[in-house]
Amino acid sequence: MVRYVGTPASGGLTMAKIKIVNRRIAGFKRVVLTPHREKALFNAAVILAKDEIKTLMEHTSGEHHDILNFQIVMLDDEGLTDLIIIQIEEHVGAARAVELAMDEYCERMKNIGDEYLSQRASDIRDALTRVIDILDGRNRERFVLTEPCIIVADEILPSDLAAIDRNFAMGFITEGGSYHNHANIIARTTGTPSVCGVDSEILNPLNDGKMVAMDGYTGEVFVSPSEETVAIFRHKMNLESRESIKQQKLREAVVRTSKGEEVAIYANCNDPKDIALAINNGAQGIGLVRSEILFMSTKYDLTLASQIRFYTECIRAAKGHEITIRTFDIGADKPLERLELEKEPNPALGMRGVRLMYSRPEIFRIQIEALLVSADRCGKINVMIPMISILSDLTDYFAMVEEVKEKLLKDGTITSDNISWGMMIETPSAALLSEEFAKYVNFFSIGTNDLTQYVLAADRINTNAARYYNPVHPAVVKLIEMTVQSAEKYGIKVSVCGESAADFESAKIYIDKGVRCLSMAQNAMLAIKERLIDEFSEF
Ligand code: PEP
Ligand code: MG
Repeated sequence: MVRYVGTPASGGLTMAKIKIVNRRIAGFKRVVLTPHREKALFNAAVILAKDEIKTLMEHTSGEHHDILNFQIVMLDDEGLTDLIIIQIEEHVGAARAVELAMDEYCERMKNIGDEYLSQRASDIRDALTRVIDILDGRNRERFVLTEPCIIVADEILPSDLAAIDRNFAMGFITEGGSYHNHANIIARTTGTPSVCGVDSEILNPLNDGKMVAMDGYTGEVFVSPSEETVAIFRHKMNLESRESIKQQKLREAVVRTSKGEEVAIYANCNDPKDIALAINNGAQGIGLVRSEILFMSTKYDLTLASQIRFYTECIRAAKGHEITIRTFDIGADKPLERLELEKEPNPALGMRGVRLMYSRPEIFRIQIEALLVSADRCGKINVMIPMISILSDLTDYFAMVEEVKEKLLKDGTITSDNISWGMMIETPSAALLSEEFAKYVNFFSIGTNDLTQYVLAADRINTNAARYYNPVHPAVVKLIEMTVQSAEKYGIKVSVCGESAADFESAKIYIDKGVRCLSMAQNAMLAIKERLIDEFSEF
């Protein structure tokens, strides 16, 4: 038995035979022709590579499909092909030229130190490795699996994933890769164990066909495990499968009060990936997408086109479930250097959230346009406005919405208004006057994080004030109750989306006051569901 320890990249335990896939085997005897001929070979290999990628695309969708499409685009990228041609003219041969250009180009991207670009570098490497394999006459269908096995590879690339029969791939062990690379993201969503960063010795061809036991939680890998290790793994795998049946049941379970009324469990999310994970994890809807994340994103920016892409990806990731996007909530605990906002003596009580529309209307106008266009293209969404404290903030915001909407309808950019508008209840005045506000909106979402801060005059980020910061203080609960009653009176929906929604004792109190929708971080959902179901079934 040989034990390796790598980086855990996707949880789970499994045992199966090893299938070695190592692209780093070098030592090919390459015959180098004249640069003119090598260029022709390179061009032909690119055409074939693109055809192969197109075939793979027929079996993919969503983000995976986009990655393969990006690879095709990169194979036509002049900056990249020029680098390759320069190398070919140096008489190194087409395959070596692609290797050299690939290393240079990808290194440059990686050195920028941006996770997104470094991910793109691995996509480019994937496409170019295919071209090299074609030039070297190497088999590209390395992942033809005929029986259940654990793939031990140098790295698993996006195009490999499209080719792998997931019914047979029991786990991934790689020398390269990282927790965040695409293969491991997919492994986590499909529940396939994965360990990366394992010593390259494991790629020894003699290991092919040997048994391996792997633990995706700890990163431990045992090649030719001893009888005792096999017994331990069997036992743990049994326990795990019992646990996963329980988790699956919880994902599908519905929380009901002792009177049988449903309490929906929604997720708070930051981006499309987060949303997809939440839906997979049983979220009945997405109660809060914090759009200010766009200011921090390297993948999206604030242009109209980029925002439309972000919102449409979010809506699609929700797969038809209700989704609520919150308009930019910037300032106070979410400062943004790049906006160069005016310094204020007391930012939590300053021009944060919706109040920023008065000094930066253009930011809000573009967001409204992007939201209207996305909803028109993808279907109905909820949009809510944060930090409302006085009625004119709401009516001024809606006046801006009307202005933008009218223009878009007039020029034919949209054909309808597919947005249901709501507001956050996170200031005491909004809760106290919720009856009045209810006449203007379709739903309320109670932000207990801020509501608690403002009701109890306890800064949410000041640990010295922690003992005043109590989201179930009777004063906070009273305002929640008032809000629920106003919502009931006007027949509009109400949910709680502050952190305390994920706290069992707080959630019970909110439910007792009539709240029937709790929105929380997706990784908190199952635990709270379990406890609430237990609690209410005892009655
Ligand atoms: C809240 O205030 O409770 C809330 C959900 O919003 P945020 O934490 O983003 O201010
Ligand atoms: Mg808030």
